[in-house]
Amino acid sequence: MIPKEYRGGCLCGNIKFLALGDPNNPHTCSCSMCQRHSGALTLCWVEFPKEAVQWTGEGGEPSLYRSSDYSCRAFCSQCGSSLGAIDDGPTVGLILGNFDHQGQQELAPLSLMKD
Ligand SMILES: [Zn+2]
Ligand SMILES: [Zn+2]
Repeated sequence: MIPKEYRGGCLCGNIKFLALGDPNNPHTCSCSMCQRHSGALTLCWVEFPKEAVQWTGEGGEPSLYRSSDYSCRAFCSQCGSSLGAIDDGPTVGLILGNFDHQGQQELAPLSLMKD
C-alpha cells in the first residue's frame, strides 16, 4: 500500500516538508508558547513520527529555537514563518496552516470538530 503524502511549507517556499503515512493527534493549542511562536491566539497542530517527515525545500531543515527542555520550535529564517515543533523524542509537530491541501478530514483538529 502506498503511504499517504502530506506536503506543505513556509510563506516564501524556502522550507518545504513532505510527511508520509498517518497523521497523529490533530489538535489545537492556545498555550502562551504557541501564541508567541506564531503571533496567533490558537495554533492547529498535527503530529508525525520524526522519520516520516522529510525537509524537501531549498533551505533544507528549518531553523530551530530551543523552547523547552524537550522540544525546539521550527521556523524559516528567511520569511519567519512558524513551521512546527521538533521534539527531542521521536515526534515532529507540524502546524496545519502550512499544509498545501487544507480540509482533509484526518487533519481536522479535534477541538474544532465538535458540532
Ligand atoms: Zn520561508
Ligand atoms: Zn501550545
